[in-house]
Amino acid sequence: MAIGALATAALCALALAGCGDAGAAPRPKVPILVYHHVGDPPRGERNPSLYVTPQRFRAQIRALRAAGFHAVTLARVWAAWHHGATLPTRPVVLSFDDGFAEQDTIARPTLSALRWPGTLNLQLDRLDARGGLSRAAIARMRRDGWEIDDHTTTHPDLTRVSARRLRAEVAGSRAAIRRALGVDPRFFCYPYGRTNAAVRRAVAAAGFKAATTIRPGLATARQDRLALPRIVVRRTMRPAEVARLASG
Ligand SMILES: [Zn+2]
Repeated sequence: MAIGALATAALCALALAGCGDAGAAPRPKVPILVYHHVGDPPRGERNPSLYVTPQRFRAQIRALRAAGFHAVTLARVWAAWHHGATLPTRPVVLSFDDGFAEQDTIARPTLSALRWPGTLNLQLDRLDARGGLSRAAIARMRRDGWEIDDHTTTHPDLTRVSARRLRAEVAGSRAAIRRALGVDPRFFCYPYGRTNAAVRRAVAAAGFKAATTIRPGLATARQDRLALPRIVVRRTMRPAEVARLASG
């Protein structure tokens, strides 16, 4: 009896520990971080803040891990939010925009050492382009658990293009990624975070489950699914700052 009571107490303690951890909640808030380049900015680069050095990138990932985070894909978050799937404690989505070579050569192995997946928001015309990602690179990323999402074909500000071009950049890029890579992107990422009612309609009509912006904040199941916030990681951010931002 005493042993039974102890076992029950232990189970309760475990359950309480689980409940007390925000990441173990059934529909947790999830930070979606955004990376662009992992490397040094070239001379004269107009937007150097989007280049995180490999050394700093690795330190940021270590800080996230030390803070108890576990990287997951957006699909996994979606399954937990809407279909009752489980998530690790303190889930974080690490998204990589556009499709740069270092996302395969530096980010992928860094994350793979932790068995963490990344989420690639692919701008299709960077596929097999100079400085972009080759098909072989994307195959490696997929083998390491990465999710491939859609970031248009040519990366325009979608609020400023014709209706025809909007369809081509949204539904058209989804079909083209399917043809080129044999993978069906289920999430969309707005170039420059720019969107409006017409763009949202195009994204919904193309069948995407959700879309991400660069409005800062943590993503939740109750938010507008076509405007999920993300946290842009910049060159100057110290590792502890990244972990703090991911913690909300
Ligand atoms: Zn982009």
